[in-house]
Amino acid sequence: MKPSLYSYTLDELTQLIKPSFRAKQIYGWIYHNFAMSYDEMSNLPKDLRLQLEQTYDINPLKIINKEISSDGTIKYLLELRDKKTIEAVWLKMKDEIVEDGKVTQEARYTICVSTQVGCKVGCAFCLTAKGGFTRDLYVSEIVAQVVTLKKDNDHKHNRMVNIVYMGMGEPLDNLDNLAKAIEIFKESDGLAIGAKRQTVSTSGLSNKIDRLGRMDLGVHIAISLHAVDDELRTELIPMNKAHNIASIIEAVKRFPIDTRKRVMFEYLVIKDKNDDLGSAKKLIKLLHGIKAKVNLIYFNPYEGTTYERPSQDSMVAFADYLIKHGLLCTIRDSKGIDISAACGQLKEKTIKEAQ
Ligand code: SF4
Repeated sequence: MKPSLYSYTLDELTQLIKPSFRAKQIYGWIYHNFAMSYDEMSNLPKDLRLQLEQTYDINPLKIINKEISSDGTIKYLLELRDKKTIEAVWLKMKDEIVEDGKVTQEARYTICVSTQVGCKVGCAFCLTAKGGFTRDLYVSEIVAQVVTLKKDNDHKHNRMVNIVYMGMGEPLDNLDNLAKAIEIFKESDGLAIGAKRQTVSTSGLSNKIDRLGRMDLGVHIAISLHAVDDELRTELIPMNKAHNIASIIEAVKRFPIDTRKRVMFEYLVIKDKNDDLGSAKKLIKLLHGIKAKVNLIYFNPYEGTTYERPSQDSMVAFADYLIKHGLLCTIRDSKGIDISAACGQLKEKTIKEAQ
């Protein structure tokens, strides 16, 4: 299999392709024009295009299905070269504001990116987990998700997007490939998506939170906490046995956090499991001393689960309690609820189902 051009930083491509100024032109073609074939690269000599074609692929992904939610969220089913499938989600975060016929604020988008085919973590509430783990994604497959979704939505290269590594898989379980993809996204001659626009969301592998911190990439982290005591958390996320709540909190305290930013703690609220005020009180105690923000997420029931969605009243009471005690907190609106695109609820469909 030929390597994809998306596997390389600009420095690496400069080493590989001679004369080296061509590398920058190629970077422009693939990240500014989203070129998917060498024929499009009109300012490259024909023999170089031919040579490139024989040596490198461009996009290792193919869109095989799209589900568009009523709120504008688009869930993509993408096929890799080995025919495995992953998902990526295009989320509209803010609407465009038009005043007097002029756009005063452009719509803002976030791309939710997968890092593995399947996942090893096995969270009880997650549909991805049910299919087990297949393999890590290559660097090019992580990068390709952003290029593919931007191109498909006709989103110009210089219009900013945020990236959340919150799709299929545990990003810190594929840390080396993730770190390189983060660097490629940051390239100023490429997509120029700064580290501050990239958030790594983890189920809480405490040793790897430390490793990510030592890499000093400048990205944000989000922790899927979901419970305030180890018993429930182990029930929800079995690998909590190896990385318990205390070890995660300690690792977060060591993580280099931009002083203007906060660590996001995701808390999936499940009826009669973790939606009581006793849990809210424990959460405040647990996060004491951390510049934290809590994101309360409604659990979206799916076929076969025994867990239930909490009532709006208990959700609001939980949020009010946190806010009253000084903890920044939001309730996530149910983006993509009708297509199961919420965190941890991505479902890999078979190609047959998608057709
Ligand atoms: S919620 Fe995330 S970490 Fe947990 S099993 Fe699903 S994909 Fe893996």
